[in-house]
Amino acid sequence: MSFEDLNLHPAIIKAITEAGYTAPTPIQKQAIPELIAGHDVMASAQTGTGKTAAFMLPALHLLATPSQVRSRGPRILVLTPTRELALQVSEAAKKYGKHLPRINVVSILGGMPYPLQNKLLSQPVEILVATPGRLIDHIQRGRIDFKRLQMLVLDEADRMLDMGFIEDVETIAAATPDTRQTLLFSATLDGAIDKVAAKLLKTPKRIQVASSKTRLDNIEQRLHYTDDMSHKNRLLDHLLRDESMKQAIVFTATKRDADTLADNLHAQGFAAAALHGDMNQRERNRTLTRLRNGGLRVLVATDVAARGIDVADITHVINFDLPKFAEDYVHRIGRTGRAGAAGTAVSFASVKDSLHLSRIERYTGQRISSHIIPGLEPRIKPRFNNNGPRSAPNVTQKHKRSPFAGNDKRPAFGAAAQTHEPGRTRNGERGKSFDGNRSFGHHPRGNAVRNSSGGKSSHQFARTK
Ligand code: AMP
Repeated sequence: MSFEDLNLHPAIIKAITEAGYTAPTPIQKQAIPELIAGHDVMASAQTGTGKTAAFMLPALHLLATPSQVRSRGPRILVLTPTRELALQVSEAAKKYGKHLPRINVVSILGGMPYPLQNKLLSQPVEILVATPGRLIDHIQRGRIDFKRLQMLVLDEADRMLDMGFIEDVETIAAATPDTRQTLLFSATLDGAIDKVAAKLLKTPKRIQVASSKTRLDNIEQRLHYTDDMSHKNRLLDHLLRDESMKQAIVFTATKRDADTLADNLHAQGFAAAALHGDMNQRERNRTLTRLRNGGLRVLVATDVAARGIDVADITHVINFDLPKFAEDYVHRIGRTGRAGAAGTAVSFASVKDSLHLSRIERYTGQRISSHIIPGLEPRIKPRFNNNGPRSAPNVTQKHKRSPFAGNDKRPAFGAAAQTHEPGRTRNGERGKSFDGNRSFGHHPRGNAVRNSSGGKSSHQFARTK
């Protein structure tokens, strides 16, 4: 199928040909005909699938026919969770719409000066791209006329939900005409998103394209609950001493943390270096060359710096800090398992990160199984339940370090780690419920543990034989 087969306006075809696109992507093939036919659409598609063009091309196609309604307000409204995404969408609209006459694209984003936005909104607007909070301010001040609005797009609706914007989205939708066409794009179409769609969309067509799930299939995802920085450092040390680890990328939340951690690892004798956005291009290239030719075993990086790194020998990705966004989790762990090789992605998380972990799992559609390393168990252990989110932990008695700790004859990480994830396994089967005795059966010293009230709790965690 070609773009010509999709019956898009010639001016749009011209722009996409100039952009170098030769054929529509799967999401574009499926969504564009439904949208041109006037249907509401809910689609699961992630960044990188061509989802922006999937809604922007039919939106522009609509704009090729003049509106019958006298108004200067937007005809297309796109809501996005972040400013960065809004700017990308605006750029795409300008790129694909450049051969159509009079397409004015305006972005209304939080953190930008109001007077400038007021000026932009006083002119005729065809496409308005906005983050929900700031747009509500302008609506409440009566600065936006939605009389001629024809299409409302909710881009990355799951992220808007996660970030608590859904009420704002609903308020905005209520301010637009009932006759509008509504589109919802989300990484996954699950229960929560279904509820939003049921409120805002009319008999939508559901479109699902292969997600990143398939891409992650050769990556084993593991989770280690951690108590504090010192616990994280001990776990990292253990993982890096595992012989099956050829090369690793360790992700930290900030550039400063990346520098500090790389320095510490270097001081401990690891061939480690940092990679982040504060380094100039020459320094970055030098570090990447060292990684490629095997001179570096551990790269400590931030999200932005590590995008696009393609090194076949990266056997492990370690999330020393969890990424802020689920999408970054996928980008990060995709640095391992390159070219069909098997990879391991290990994430450190505190029990407070449960909600965040659920979001990541919702995004990837995969459970991340929790592991322990004997002697390096978390003091604060989460208690699981089979169906719902991870719930509050019980506190166990603090124990001394394992006889293995600090000893190079420790069992290899792969052999020692035990899964005690109670939910579904990677294949979607039900696992054993978490009752401790089985799951924590390898506690090194066999001590009974106590719950937070100080009583013995043989149900929560195990003693060994
Ligand atoms: P998106 O998923 O919308 O973030 O798009 C990902 C990237 O794919 C963007 O850089 C687009 O410019 C590009 N793209 C979108 N559609 C196509 C296409 N049909 N052919 C080639 N590249 C495309």
